[in-house]
Amino acid sequence: SNRIMLGPLVAAIDQGTSSTRFLVFNAKTAELLSHHQVEIKQSFPKEGWVEEDPKEILQSVYECMDRTCEKLTQLNIDISNIKAIGVTNQRETTLVWDKETGEPLYNAIVWLDLRTQSTVERLINKTPGRNKNHLKHKTGLPISTYFSAVKLRWLMDNVEKVHEAVLSHRAMFGTVDSWLIWCLTGGKKGGVHCTDVTNASRTMLFNIHTMDWDPELCKYFDIPMEILPKVRSSSEIYGLMKSGPLTGVPISGCLGDQSAALVGQMCFKDGQAKNTYGTGCFLLKNVGTKPVMSDHGLLTTVAYKLGRDKPACYALEGSVAIAGAVVRWLKDNLGIIQTSTELEELAADVGTSYGCYFVPAFSGLYAPYWEPSARGIICGLTQFTNRSHLAFAALEAVCFQTREILDAMNQDSGIHLSQLQVDGGMTSNRLLMQLQADILCIPVVKPSMPETTALGAAMAAGAAEGVSVWSLTPEDLTEVTSEKFEPQINPEESELRYARWKKAVQRAMNWET
Ligand code: ADP
Repeated sequence: SNRIMLGPLVAAIDQGTSSTRFLVFNAKTAELLSHHQVEIKQSFPKEGWVEEDPKEILQSVYECMDRTCEKLTQLNIDISNIKAIGVTNQRETTLVWDKETGEPLYNAIVWLDLRTQSTVERLINKTPGRNKNHLKHKTGLPISTYFSAVKLRWLMDNVEKVHEAVLSHRAMFGTVDSWLIWCLTGGKKGGVHCTDVTNASRTMLFNIHTMDWDPELCKYFDIPMEILPKVRSSSEIYGLMKSGPLTGVPISGCLGDQSAALVGQMCFKDGQAKNTYGTGCFLLKNVGTKPVMSDHGLLTTVAYKLGRDKPACYALEGSVAIAGAVVRWLKDNLGIIQTSTELEELAADVGTSYGCYFVPAFSGLYAPYWEPSARGIICGLTQFTNRSHLAFAALEAVCFQTREILDAMNQDSGIHLSQLQVDGGMTSNRLLMQLQADILCIPVVKPSMPETTALGAAMAAGAAEGVSVWSLTPEDLTEVTSEKFEPQINPEESELRYARWKKAVQRAMNWET
């Protein structure tokens, strides 16, 4: 047959909160050749609880892989050109499985989940001066429901099967990357139990200075170290695919989704930043090879370590729990839109929130407040307010939350970003992008290939020692085309709206007290 001759290809598994994707890139040009995407079900068994099924997650990966390989074959592209696979994933989401049966022992507890709120309050009350930043010097993180350690603690305390498996030395803990890599490299028949430094840095068990699990932190949360995966760099061969159309292909890249987006946006220099708009919203700024601690509610996290012998780079991060999730809420809970894309049209109908402010603090508030007891509010309603205004207010909420993060970052560093690089599923909403430029008063720049998270994971996989089909020097890449949104409203109006938003946030805080 007339197979198209291409250079080496690299694939990425992008396992996000709302969907799984498998994408195949040309390693020489970074061109996306084919992909497939499957939505992931989320369950909300109780108020504040968010779970996903680990087997469905795994199945979705196999399905996306199979379908993408079929599409490539239809395009006359030989899948044997795929030289490596990278994994990128929703971070912090916590799983425990039985290494002998290969069975998950509970659903995955998703990062947004709030069930550990009382545990978190108890832990903070025990610290000197009730300081949520008690472990920050080692972890870069505040004690919060967000990170994996408290979720794992909950599983050990509340799920009999997990408790027993830990006692009988059969339990394995992992974030989604670990679960997938273990399963894909053979599972109970010799699967590799590992994670990378970026995912590890979100567990609260990892010391970001020593770059390893920290015995004191494990003791603090009373978690046995034997259930933890081995920590590896973000770019090295972890193992080989054991089944499916890509059997034998090395898995050689692993990055938490936000780190992957930073790499995919080529933010390799100190001071470069990107904001990703997915289920949540995450602004990461590369701060170089020394961790920088924030005084304004940002996290310090491992950005990447692209090879065993390469230095680790760190990032300051502002995390917003609810961004795209508010769109899903308007769709699934209120039914005011049928699809996420309808939101833009609905909001554009009015072009203003008409004084309505919507603080979607469904999971408390993350950066810069870290207030688990905050709850969502909609305020400023009048007889005139309709669903279009509400849709507009929802989009504005995403932009205001980003403004708060950027302000914190500017305060921490004293340096102001001159433009913001963006990506993620929500950036297809052009109204949102324009609003963001208006509210930040700086241009917003979006790459024409929006799958930067997957690209970052593919880059890490292709650059790994022993694969070496992808060069990480940005000069080698073809010019990245992009779209730029310039601020259009005057800064005074922008400030006024932002001030009202801040008032609304104060009402959402400490809701029950
Ligand atoms: P994740 O990586 O968290 O799974 P994605 O980057 O895939 O997220 O983005 C999906 C999110 O973006 C969903 O929450 C969805 O509601 C939202 N979204 C997708 N398209 C649009 C759109 N046109 N306007 C607003 N929100 C959107």
